[in-house]
Amino acid sequence: DNPMPPKPAWIRVRAPGSDAFLATRAIVREHGLATVCEEAGCPNIGECWQQRHATMMIMGEICTRACAFCNVATGVPRPLNADEPAKVADAVEALGLRHVVITSVDRDDLADGGAAHFADVIGAVRARAPATSIEVLIPDFLRKDGALEKVVAARPDVLNHNLETVPGLYVRIRPGARYFHSLRLLQRAKELDATIFTKSGLMLGLGETRDEVLQVMDDLRSADVDFLTLGQYLAPSPKHAEVKRYVPPDEFDDLRRIALAKGFHVVASSPLTRSSYHADEDFQRLKAV
Ligand code: SF4
Ligand code: SF4
Repeated sequence: DNPMPPKPAWIRVRAPGSDAFLATRAIVREHGLATVCEEAGCPNIGECWQQRHATMMIMGEICTRACAFCNVATGVPRPLNADEPAKVADAVEALGLRHVVITSVDRDDLADGGAAHFADVIGAVRARAPATSIEVLIPDFLRKDGALEKVVAARPDVLNHNLETVPGLYVRIRPGARYFHSLRLLQRAKELDATIFTKSGLMLGLGETRDEVLQVMDDLRSADVDFLTLGQYLAPSPKHAEVKRYVPPDEFDDLRRIALAKGFHVVASSPLTRSSYHADEDFQRLKAV
């Protein structure tokens, strides 16, 4: 009775399958890696993998949370793999990446939320590929005292944590998380090490209002966040949160202009923007600011 609106033309993407795409997939498989590109069913995989931009997902493929927008399986995760830091470093080297994005599932089951493991992965990549810039997309480490400090001490170039949606929708969309905790996490990262770029993002089309989005922008600027990403939410399946609206490209352009005026250094805003989409080019822009 309330069918999802049909996908508009601006959402359509190129099918994957080029030789370069297949080469990336071979490296991913060979190293036994999970990628958020595949786990999330990301629409950009054809374009990104053609350029070898695969976003690694560490700490397993099972998450302890169950966000309403997310395609990753929920359950009891397996123990951490001590070989993973070396495996990720090997893959970064094999892919020849100038910039790598590393993310993870949420590990509420671990005492430190997996922070030490995250730091080990950063250290291993840094040692193997010192010229590669490292962007981490981290969990919120809710009730994990000292976890953020461990990740920051490993000195990633970019620390990303997505607010995902406006505070009024947290109960429905991100039930295990707390808006102000996530905001404060970003602020603390900057306080701990001002040389690290901070980044966050929102999905649009979940039922948020324009005023709510503008308020989140102000909140992020007050937390000194450098880089904002805005993209269209796409439901991975009918069981996930429904798409309330497809936001037209010109509205994304308008929000980009507003966000830049509010003081973000770099803003990526388009229907297909994801936090790791064009992360390499955007990091080069961020460095140049
Ligand atoms: Fe992977 Fe990010 Fe590209 Fe999607 S946008 S395919 S998640 S690198
Ligand atoms: Fe998905 Fe991350 Fe939520 Fe886990 S915490 S369900 S991986 S969005």
